Amino acid sequence: MTGFDRHPPASAYIVAVGSELLTPSRQDTNSLFLTARLNEIGIEVCGKAVVGDERETLAATLRHALEHADLVILTGGLGPTEDDVTREVVAGELGLALEEDGAAVERLRARFTARRMTMPEINRRQALVPRGATVLPNPNGTAPGLWLEAGERLVILLPGPPLELQPIFEAVVAERLRPRTRGLRVWRRELRVTGRTESQVDELAQPLYSRWTSGACPIATTILATFGQIELHLSVRAATSDEAAASLGPAVSALVEVLAPAVYSVDGRSLEQVVGDLLRERRASIAVAESCTGGLVTSRLTDVPGSSDYVERGVVTYSNRAKTDLLGVPEALIAEHGAVSEAVAVAMAAGIRQRACVEVGVGVTGIAGPTGGTADKPVGTVAIAVSRSAGHRSRRFLFVGRREQVKFQASQAALDMVRRWLLEDVSPVA
Ligand code: ATP
Ligand code: MG
Repeated sequence: MTGFDRHPPASAYIVAVGSELLTPSRQDTNSLFLTARLNEIGIEVCGKAVVGDERETLAATLRHALEHADLVILTGGLGPTEDDVTREVVAGELGLALEEDGAAVERLRARFTARRMTMPEINRRQALVPRGATVLPNPNGTAPGLWLEAGERLVILLPGPPLELQPIFEAVVAERLRPRTRGLRVWRRELRVTGRTESQVDELAQPLYSRWTSGACPIATTILATFGQIELHLSVRAATSDEAAASLGPAVSALVEVLAPAVYSVDGRSLEQVVGDLLRERRASIAVAESCTGGLVTSRLTDVPGSSDYVERGVVTYSNRAKTDLLGVPEALIAEHGAVSEAVAVAMAAGIRQRACVEVGVGVTGIAGPTGGTADKPVGTVAIAVSRSAGHRSRRFLFVGRREQVKFQASQAALDMVRRWLLEDVSPVA
C-alpha cells in the first residue's frame, strides 16, 4: 500500500503548460474538462495555473501545486522538441532520474512505421520516463501520459491536445483514480430558467438554500446568469446515485415549484430541444419569420437532430418589402405602426403560419442596435408574436446588451413564448 492509497486525494491542482495558452488566441480548455471529470469522481480542484514553456516558472508552479494538493495534473509540453519541458521539470522537482522506456520507444517506432516513416531520433525524448513512473499509452498521438506516485502525492502528466488527453483520461486515468477516492463522487442537477432576472430567481430560491446547506447531505448551489438565461446548479457528494437523488430530487422539485413556469429544463436539455420535443409530442410543425434575429430562431431550432420532423421553414424578412412580399404584411400596417411593432409581429407570424400551413407561426421584429433606436422605440425593443389556429399572442420586450446579446435574448424569448403556449395545451393536437 502506498501513502497515496492511505490518503485518497480530496483535492487536485491543474497546471496547463504551453506558451500559446498565454496568448489571446488560445485558451486552456483542458482544465475545464479535467475539472468536470475529477468532480464526478469526488475530487475537488483547489487551484489551477497556466504557465509558458519555461523551466523556472513551471518548477515554481509545480512546487506550489504539490504543497497545496494531493494530486497534480500537468497538461501539455510533452512534445519531442527542446521547448517541451514538462517531463524534465517534473523529474527534476521530484528528484527522479529520467530513463528511456523500452516499450514506449517501440510504440513510438511502430506509430511511425505504420505511416511508412522513420522515427526521427528527437522523438526518443518522448519515451523518457522518470524512474518509477507508469507510462499511459496515447493511441492518438506520440506523447504518452505519465503516472507518478511520489510519497503521498500523485502527479499525472498528459499531452496537451484535447483529442489526445481526453481519451487517455477516460480510458486509464479515471479508472486508476476511482478506486482510490473515498467512493464519494459529486452528483449534479441543473435547472435552466428564462424570462426572469437573476435577482428575481435568487430572491425566490434563497429561502430554500438555507434548508439544504445544513442537511446531512449538504447541497451546494451556484447561480450562473447570462443574457436571456439563468442556470441553477445543485451538487452533492454522495456514494451512490440513489443517495444523491434522495437529496437532489426534492430540492429540484422545490425550486421548480417556486420558479415555474420559468424553468424550462431540469435535465440538461436546451430551450430549442424542449420546444422541439413539445412540437413532436403534439405532432405540430413550426414556421418562423425573422427580422432582427436574422434566422437565429430557426438556426437554433435546427441545431437539434431530427428537427426536420417539426421545422417546416424559416424566412428572414429583413426589409419592409420582404415582409410584404413573402409574408403578406400590409404596407399600410407597417406605415401605421412601424416595422417594429406588435401589430407587424402578429402579421408576420400569421403570414408565415398560413403560407407554410403549420400549427405554429412565429414573427420577430426589433432593433438590435447599436443604431436605429428612437425615444419611443429604443435599441433593444423587440416585438414577438406567436400565431396558432386558435389565435395569437404578442409581446413587446426591451432587452439590454450589445447587438448579438439582443439577438440572442430575442430568440430566447420567442422560443419561450412558443414553449409556454404549447405547455398550456390540454391534449396534444392530433
Ligand atoms: P505534442 O506536442 O506531442 O502534440 P504536447 O503535450 O507537447 O504534445 P503541446 O505542444 O503543449 O502538447 O500542445 C499541442 C496543442 O494542444 C496546442 O497547440 C493546443 O492547441 C493544444 N493544447 C495544449 N494545451 C491545451 C490546453 N490546456 N487546453 C486546450 N488545448 C491545449
Ligand atoms: Mg508543445
